[in-house]
Amino acid sequence: MDDSKKKRSRAPQDVGQALSQTKRTRHGDVDETAGLRRDAEFWLEDGTIVILAGDVSFRVYKGVLATHSPVFADMFSLPQPETPTTFPSLGQQCPVVRFNDSPKDLRYILRAILPSQSGTLVPKKQQCPSFDAISAHIRLGHKYDIGHLVDHALDYLKDHFTDDFDKWVDRGGDWVPRRFKLHHAIGVVNLARLTGCDTILPIALAVCCTLDPKYLLYGFECRNGSREQLGQDDLLRCLRAKETLMHDSTSALHKALIPIPSHMPACDTPTRCRNGIQELPDFFAYEGPLIATAHPFRNWKVYDYWFEGGSICERCEDHLKERLHGEQRLIWTKLPTILDLPIDRWGLPAVVEHSDSGSDAESDSDSDMD
Ligand SMILES: [Zn+2]
Repeated sequence: MDDSKKKRSRAPQDVGQALSQTKRTRHGDVDETAGLRRDAEFWLEDGTIVILAGDVSFRVYKGVLATHSPVFADMFSLPQPETPTTFPSLGQQCPVVRFNDSPKDLRYILRAILPSQSGTLVPKKQQCPSFDAISAHIRLGHKYDIGHLVDHALDYLKDHFTDDFDKWVDRGGDWVPRRFKLHHAIGVVNLARLTGCDTILPIALAVCCTLDPKYLLYGFECRNGSREQLGQDDLLRCLRAKETLMHDSTSALHKALIPIPSHMPACDTPTRCRNGIQELPDFFAYEGPLIATAHPFRNWKVYDYWFEGGSICERCEDHLKERLHGEQRLIWTKLPTILDLPIDRWGLPAVVEHSDSGSDAESDSDSDMD
């Protein structure tokens, strides 16, 4: 179990830091004619506060933002300056504040906490968030103490970068979530470090081990203009682990295929199957990248074409697949050790915490339906 929620509990100095990072706009600082543009999505004519981020101005509801974020609430409770003359139409009840966040990131947050025409009670199944959206929710949610945004985004990452080997296998071999690119695993590592969500680190770092060295060293540029790079300690982890993972993944495949079992279970053509299995290592000589991969949990389907032609029956193929999964499970169990990560209960079933207050649980459930 990770301690991400515990770490997200803000200390007073954190709130002060967030406030100091948010520069309040003074009278005359704002000039609508000097490069500022109104956001096409979030300029609400009856909005009660104007937020400036980069070269974009957002006009939204102060009270709604304050409801979601105690940091916003503290910020808005301070005496507000006069409305700049460059926003003469706003009136005195619409203060202007500047955030030092990117407008792209801020737009993701506003979409999450403000009512919209596209809002639905039940999310559409095909709606998969991009890395940029997940990253904005976690980073700004952490900064402004919007707990539910951080929790939902981390739950999404935990579901993919799981500590459950069977869940990983059942998913069928996707190394990163839909709409993510492989190098986004670097950003996932950094989000885990920011929030203390350690359980997603082993698989995210294992994916990093498969990246081109260009990404390992230099990271990648996000759509908001920032750069995501591995910290030096995590870079060292990947460089050290890569060799071990290549060795272990090759060994796992080799062990799964040889020695050939003397009796394959429920096989109707044992002689033909044994001969077919005996020929499989021939692929090793010509399929180096497919065999010696740094990713230790490759899905069996990448080897499907080895079995085309029917020299090995389906039952024997399933048996070999189970043997490979057994070897991969052993690597999964020791993955935190390979990566030099101390993680409690990695790969073990979650501990169910029993509560005596059944009435409280019932009350919570009712409130969720409101
Ligand atoms: Zn067979």
